[in-house]
Amino acid sequence: MKYVGWDEVTTGVVLDSFKGESENAAFVRPEDRSYSEFNSYTKSVADWRVLKPVYNREICIDCQNCWIFCPDTSIISRDKKMIGIDYEHCKGCGICVEVCPTNPKSLLMFSDFIDTEDAILEWPKKEKKKKSKD
Ligand code: SF4
Ligand code: SF4
Repeated sequence: MKYVGWDEVTTGVVLDSFKGESENAAFVRPEDRSYSEFNSYTKSVADWRVLKPVYNREICIDCQNCWIFCPDTSIISRDKKMIGIDYEHCKGCGICVEVCPTNPKSLLMFSDFIDTEDAILEWPKKEKKKKSKD
């Protein structure tokens, strides 16, 4: 393998995402894969996030909507159970909150600086459905 500087990279160059064999990487959990230094998984790419999603396990029904819709694969799910958020990569877009179907939502956006425990204390209560007048 030849290492080059950023200003020497030419069109069509290939940066290997994995070290060695990567054929079955899709079947290996992210933490068990052997990423190369070129892969963004090994770096935090969320420094500029202002808001972050906070997850409330007490309300979640493990529907997996957030996992399916997150554009950054930052929802961590194991065996169809939502277990948390990868804050090293989450960009704070809020899509996961939009698609969460519970009442109240199991994911809500908070300031990036808030502690999870403090955010949970501020969680809204269940909203009652309004009766329609026919
Ligand atoms: S805020 Fe956006 S990037 Fe972060 S977990 Fe939710 S959907 Fe993914
Ligand atoms: S969308 Fe909401 S209810 Fe569904 S798994 Fe994600 S956090 Fe849980």
